[in-house]
Amino acid sequence: MTSPVKAPHEAPSLDPSDWDGYRRAAHELLDACIDHLEGVRERPWRPWPADAGSRLALGPADEPVDIESVAREMVEHVLPFGSGNTHPAFFGWVQGTGNAAALLAEIVAGTMNSNCGGRDHGAVYVERDVVRWCREAFGLPDEASGVLVSGTSQATIIALAVARQRALGASSRRAGIHGGPRLTLYAGRHVHSSVAKAAELLGLGSDALRLLPLGAGGGMDLAALAEQVELDSGDGCAPFCVVATAGSVDQGAFDDLRALAAFCAERSLWFHVDGAFGAWLRLADDPWSRLTDGIERADSIALDFHKWMAVQYDCGLVLVREERLHREAFATRPAYLTSQRAGLGGGEPWFCDYGTELSRGFRALKVWSTLRAFGRRQLGASISGNCRLAGYLAELVSAAPDLELAAPVVSNVCCFGAAAALGSHAQRSAWNESVVAALQLAGRAVFSTTVVDGVTVARAAITNHRTRAHDIEDAVAGFRARLGAVRRGGAGA
Ligand SMILES: *Cc1c(COP(=O)(O)O)cnc(C)c1O
Repeated sequence: MTSPVKAPHEAPSLDPSDWDGYRRAAHELLDACIDHLEGVRERPWRPWPADAGSRLALGPADEPVDIESVAREMVEHVLPFGSGNTHPAFFGWVQGTGNAAALLAEIVAGTMNSNCGGRDHGAVYVERDVVRWCREAFGLPDEASGVLVSGTSQATIIALAVARQRALGASSRRAGIHGGPRLTLYAGRHVHSSVAKAAELLGLGSDALRLLPLGAGGGMDLAALAEQVELDSGDGCAPFCVVATAGSVDQGAFDDLRALAAFCAERSLWFHVDGAFGAWLRLADDPWSRLTDGIERADSIALDFHKWMAVQYDCGLVLVREERLHREAFATRPAYLTSQRAGLGGGEPWFCDYGTELSRGFRALKVWSTLRAFGRRQLGASISGNCRLAGYLAELVSAAPDLELAAPVVSNVCCFGAAAALGSHAQRSAWNESVVAALQLAGRAVFSTTVVDGVTVARAAITNHRTRAHDIEDAVAGFRARLGAVRRGGAGA
């Protein structure tokens, strides 16, 4: 008997029609990726070739191309053109190198395709374990909560939203931030730009972020902080938060976290730590590890795995000392997300209640595989090694008559350039800038630049587990050779 109900026309699924062909292409692709990684020392940044766009252009992308060809296109036309941050002579900005264990995790996570917004499944348990590990590493209590996010910029928004909510009360989620006194927050002048962005997004405005001068040790001037908080309180503002910098992006400097923790406790201010890369000095040897003393007293911490922990992009974390406040700021459960007592729809707490994202990928596995494969000890050794190399770079610079340090090295950042005696501010700025660009274009070394005391200088932030002492020596030799050339060429004169 035929059913009176007729099944609809079925479109093909997106699975490969030829699994054997797919398997072969996938194995070839994996081999190409491993070859690439093994030979990464020969693969510095290369500019994107002029004709690459036409080779890869999607156009309207109406018709299918077989997956095997797509695999070959990616290997031939995309893989060679990374930003070079995997290369051992890459020291620009603050960028991580990735690692071989997390690469494998990306394949597994991509296969599982878990949605980690919530519910009861394996990926969520892995993320909880990662959060637990971090909570313990930074000395936060068992009640602290956390969630993996795209990076410190996003983690900062979440942390400051919790701080704002604590200042205004739970009703502010409905009522908004209108009507009350102006909320103000405080940071040293070296604070990362993501904090001002967060203040803008949270409706506080970037003027609410009071930027304080730095003291002798390179951290926020505490007397100036106390004075500004007094002044604002007297002016009818409502100071609510201090953002401590644990590793400034510019010079790798640290605020005095212990002193700031005490200051915040005394005045009932939220103590947030931006430890994007610097927080990981917690895993390093002394004296660097001591720079993070006091982080265990934070109300919230924002940090990255994709910089100094060598986890593939993108991955950051926000930790919040009081889970209740974290949840209060973000939890929302419409009917279609009601939790079940049993089954896949259970598994409280759900990560979507700790941030703005509902659907979330399985970032935790690449962190888990990194921690598992290398352990706290090896990761800490790599971080300490980077600080030693920054010190070595500073020594080489100091020993070279044509170079000078632009700032003392505190952790892993070294800023330097042409010696002051060689030319004016403007000349040296132009030379330093052109040498940095020349070294990048030659594939020799990647420094970025910053401005210290009005001079554009080269800046190395060493967060690279592949860098050896000879890479530093070679980069300095390259810098000096090109500096000589631009000076003789009269560039910037
Ligand atoms: C990189 C960085 C940020 C921003 O982090 P993203 O992961 O790039 O969003 C914030 N603060 C500091 C100190 C940083 O180095």
